[in-house]
Amino acid sequence: MRKDLALFGGEKIIKKNLEKYNSIGMEESIAVQKVIDSGELSRFLGCWDDDFYGGKYVREFEKDCAEFFNVKHVVTVNSWTSGLVCAIGAIGIEPGDEIIVTPWTMCATATAILHWNAIPVFSDIEPETFNLDPKKIEQKITKRTKAILAADIFGHSCEVKKLLEIAEKYSLKLITDSAQAPGVFNNGIVTGTESHVGGYSLNYHKHIHTGEGGILVTNDDNICERMQLIRNHGEAVVESKGVKNLNNILGHNFRLGEIECAIGIQQLKKLKSLVKRRQEIAAYLNEGLKDLEGLILPKVLKGNTHAYYCYGLKLDLNKISVNREIIISALEAEGLKGLGNGYANIHLLPLFQKKIAYGNKGFPWSSDVTSNFISYSKGICPVAERMHDKEFIAFEMCLHQLNDEDIELVLKCFKKVWDNLHLLSN
Ligand SMILES: *Cc1c(COP(=O)(O)O)cnc(C)c1O
Repeated sequence: MRKDLALFGGEKIIKKNLEKYNSIGMEESIAVQKVIDSGELSRFLGCWDDDFYGGKYVREFEKDCAEFFNVKHVVTVNSWTSGLVCAIGAIGIEPGDEIIVTPWTMCATATAILHWNAIPVFSDIEPETFNLDPKKIEQKITKRTKAILAADIFGHSCEVKKLLEIAEKYSLKLITDSAQAPGVFNNGIVTGTESHVGGYSLNYHKHIHTGEGGILVTNDDNICERMQLIRNHGEAVVESKGVKNLNNILGHNFRLGEIECAIGIQQLKKLKSLVKRRQEIAAYLNEGLKDLEGLILPKVLKGNTHAYYCYGLKLDLNKISVNREIIISALEAEGLKGLGNGYANIHLLPLFQKKIAYGNKGFPWSSDVTSNFISYSKGICPVAERMHDKEFIAFEMCLHQLNDEDIELVLKCFKKVWDNLHLLSN
């Protein structure tokens, strides 16, 4: 019956607000109070001093992270956007250099490149895990290419081994953005730690958070030192520290405070079980949705674990003729919140369409060190564009704290809409 669907005035399935995801508890509260009582909310000094590397909690959190993520060096920063800026500056990028990047991610992944007047070159994703497609990268490499910047989007690792092979062949650096993939594994190795430099976000929406914050990880001593300099007004200390490589060491304050690090120490202890719960929810959803005709469930490639920042579904357009927007509206009408159509492809943002980042005259694209052949036209990343335009349905698990009863309700919404799909056809 057409009117059965809430979209057509029927009774909706989810009548309450699903509980908001919240990982903060008593442990964080106690930890914060301790820092407040000490009065020392940050101990960073922007000159060459022992405190150049921050206070007690910064160091303790960095040490704990190094152990948890199994890497040699950790540098905390005040956001993962700042972290990306540090990472790109640290690999010695020059204005006009090109970095190959995915269009299917949060915009900071690409704009961090522009902050060094370097040029993002978008390369398409593969349609299974929505990460950079290694097969399409080599055709984007030019003499200006210096790095590949891949994301582990939604919580599934990119094909890091294949990307590293390409990086090695062309002497490029590989940077990974694992903002959405903390605490998962790719063939037994912690996701985000195999690239030259990687890291995680600690913003409010991520698996664990400190309000705002970011974690840089690397096994490279030189990259680590350069990131520490970029984080904290490095130009003031290079002489005392005897640093010879001065490029890109240019006045920033990307320091994370003691309160955030005290929270981070507690949050890190919870990460494993928080990721495990997401995996349980995903398994439950997979089981409940597997028989819905034309609905393609998230894929986990062999050897990987998935953090499910987002539970990414697709429509099989050969089997379903109903417009994706109508399906999303029908699900939303049933009371299901947190649905979306995935990332607006970054290359299609006005910033790139107008090629204006600094001032109004097209800089840095207009610079004489920049290639004239950089295209951001619709069509350069057909898979990512198709996902956003037609196929992809995101269920943003990161927003909700779902108990088993809630998951049943989520499944009921999908089943009801699927039972009535024939009524939604145009
Ligand atoms: C959250 C996020 C960022 C930005 O992190 P912030 O800590 O908010 O600056 C970058 N990339 C991806 C993929 C993200 O999910």
